[in-house]
Amino acid sequence: MLVIGGGITGVSVLHHLRARGFDGVLVERAHIAAGASGRNAGFLLAGVADNYAEAVRIFGRSRAREIWQLTLENHATMIEAVQARPVGYRRLGSATLASGDKEAAQLAESWQLLQEDGFEATWDGRRLVNPRDGEVNPATLVGALARQAQPDAIREGVNVTAIEAATSGVVVHADGAECRAGSVILATNAYTPQLLEQVAIQPRRAQMLASSPDAARLCDVPTYSHFGYRYWRQLPSGEVLIGGWRDTAYDVEVGYDERPTPAIQSHLDAQLKRMGAEGEVTHRWAGTMGFTESGLPLVGPVDGMPNVYLCAGFNGHGMGFAFISAKRLVDSL
Ligand SMILES: Cc1cc2nc3c(=O)[nH]c(=O)nc-3n(C[C@H](O)[C@H](O)[C@H](O)COP(=O)(O)OP(=O)(O)OC[C@H]3O[C@@H](n4cnc5c(N)ncnc54)[C@H](O)[C@@H]3O)c2cc1C
Repeated sequence: MLVIGGGITGVSVLHHLRARGFDGVLVERAHIAAGASGRNAGFLLAGVADNYAEAVRIFGRSRAREIWQLTLENHATMIEAVQARPVGYRRLGSATLASGDKEAAQLAESWQLLQEDGFEATWDGRRLVNPRDGEVNPATLVGALARQAQPDAIREGVNVTAIEAATSGVVVHADGAECRAGSVILATNAYTPQLLEQVAIQPRRAQMLASSPDAARLCDVPTYSHFGYRYWRQLPSGEVLIGGWRDTAYDVEVGYDERPTPAIQSHLDAQLKRMGAEGEVTHRWAGTMGFTESGLPLVGPVDGMPNVYLCAGFNGHGMGFAFISAKRLVDSL
């Protein structure tokens, strides 16, 4: 089995393949965690990007409950899989801060619904706290999973340029060379349409910054606001990470250009000031997320391409979904 893509999804697929006794090789065009998995905020949140009340409206009550449960399982099993390695993991919970009356009403309703469905949460009229959420250094976590792979199972610097269905297996082209794989699993998230244009995943840019360490505690838990469009957290060592604000330039923050822009970065700078940080900005970056029409990942066979499977389209929440999605795909294989 050939896995394409060395982010959280690819290394999770490799992990589950190995657990099931399958032989897998992963190829990555750059290096492990070069994509969104090495550029994200490290929030381990339950549920989809929408708050629980919205999720219930979109997916129905039992599906929303099932998704929440699935992401809790993702959290627990992914952390268990790295076997207490130092991956920056903390489970202090997360807070979703109401940006105004509309979001406050939805969060209050979410709190009610979560309680009724047996999930822990608190609401103080301003923020909804989910005590079961966590945070992680995502690149370190991907590295920890990658290190568990068989020697030679991961090949970095291999850019797959095309895949073709064949009478037996799949023909894979990479930088002028060709090989035949029994099956191919695409763990290429936002980049999937570059290989298979029929796959409906939209690339969307997200931007972040990091500050130098601040001695003061500026934020107690990973915080999410403006319907998930804005987020920040502070590392135990004092650095502040701030991301989002693509709602201010929704139509611009699309595509594969992974360069930060002054317009979005100025919003992140303003948030750093509002939080009272005294440190300097040390890093600015952007990454590409993959969005699907349903708001849920695409996991399973690719239509019209025998032996080609997809595990992608994480709608900006791959740290919360990818490990368990990879397991489901491998179980189905
Ligand atoms: C700024 C930012 C903040 C985010 N914050 C969070 C967060 O706090 N919590 C959360 O859950 N999610 C967050 N996300 C989303 C999360 O990062 C993604 O959902 C997740 O990383 C997707 O993982 P992946 O492995 O599927 O894709 P990726 O990490 O993008 O990996 C895909 C890999 O495939 C490789 N590849 C692509 N095409 C080819 C090819 N043709 N040949 C070989 N290799 C190829 C790429 O180089 C890449 O390494 C954020 C994303 C961004 C950008």
